[in-house]
Amino acid sequence: MTERFTGSFTQQEPIPEAGIEAAIRIMRSGRLHRYNTAPGETAEAALMEQEFAAVTGARYALAVASGGYALGCALRAVGVKPGDTVLTNAFTLAPVPGAIASVGAVPVYVGVTERLVIDLDDLAAKTGRARVLMLSHMRGHLADMDRLMAICDAAGITVIEDCAHTMGASWNGVPSGRHGAVGCYSMQTYKHVNSGEGGFLVTDDDEIAARAVMLSGSYMLYERHLAAPPPEVFESVKYDTPNVSGRMDNLRAAILRPQLAALDTQVGRWNERYAVVEDGLRGTPGLTVIDRDPRGRFVGSSLQFLLLDWATDKVQAVIDRCAARGVELKWFGGAEPKGFTSRYDSWRYAPSERMPATDRILRGIVDMRLPLTFTLDDCALIARIIRAEVGAVHQQA
Ligand SMILES: *Cc1c(COP(=O)(O)O)cnc(C)c1O
Repeated sequence: MTERFTGSFTQQEPIPEAGIEAAIRIMRSGRLHRYNTAPGETAEAALMEQEFAAVTGARYALAVASGGYALGCALRAVGVKPGDTVLTNAFTLAPVPGAIASVGAVPVYVGVTERLVIDLDDLAAKTGRARVLMLSHMRGHLADMDRLMAICDAAGITVIEDCAHTMGASWNGVPSGRHGAVGCYSMQTYKHVNSGEGGFLVTDDDEIAARAVMLSGSYMLYERHLAAPPPEVFESVKYDTPNVSGRMDNLRAAILRPQLAALDTQVGRWNERYAVVEDGLRGTPGLTVIDRDPRGRFVGSSLQFLLLDWATDKVQAVIDRCAARGVELKWFGGAEPKGFTSRYDSWRYAPSERMPATDRILRGIVDMRLPLTFTLDDCALIARIIRAEVGAVHQQA
């Protein structure tokens, strides 16, 4: 009998009861806006920022409307201006070049390696072309952050980290998002904490933090933040920093606080599931598992493998055959942008040069979500299905 998987790759866990109760309390209070507080009350949004600063060890944290907003806000806060160039990953998702375009800047793409991290040799060769790197830790693959920071520090490049897939991850014990000048995170439904939409930004820099708070739409109420610099820092930026409204509200903050407290446990659960799928796929002829650098602690909320140098119709056959058995795979090599997946050359608002070595990798990347609603048995079944279908297509060679 042919096994079929019947679970949903887009089904997240429910919001913890404590979050639901806190959300109801906020709705009953009517005070959803973060600056709408009763005398003596501290806003949920401000408390959550304080807690996220503690989780990451950052001096300052700011909650905003989305991960993409955090990225755009960070670019503005570090002083990127229209027409500037910004280095970024060729292998990432559309909100990253989109954030660069949102401030009128122009991305310069850096290639991807077989380990699915930014190509540090390509980065080193391109450091003369921009003053800022927006580094996307795409699908949680962490580059050698020590070498990356050495390259960028030597070239005077400011690093903004896109940690949409690395909330809870670390490199050599340093939380992801704490190597560069700014770390940005997403709380969109499919990320590691879920408020539907939402974003965080962390930094240790006084002026970047003050600018980001002003940009997010604090009006002159910035003193109500608990994880922001002292008022005198705002004095120097408050007249020349525009309000680009993108605040977080108390309702979403209330939903998120218990999830933040449970993040570490959730990371462990993701990694258990990841290990089961990875073990099941290892040794499949024609399929390359992505080995993770042991210096990084990753979050296995999704899994990628390579069908390197396969003909495109063969990769498509694997995707179709897995789909027919209930296993939903995404392919970064597809010619047309589809669902959440697109390639650097499909972002036509931003010019790109041909990157043959990167194209070779992208053509082979197959990607899959691993929601926590999957059991370990589900994960083993999914691996068996992929292994069988990759094997079947590979043999047709
Ligand atoms: C989700 C995501 C973002 C942006 O987050 P939103 O909250 O959806 O705006 C940025 N980068 C990557 C790689 C993402 O997956």
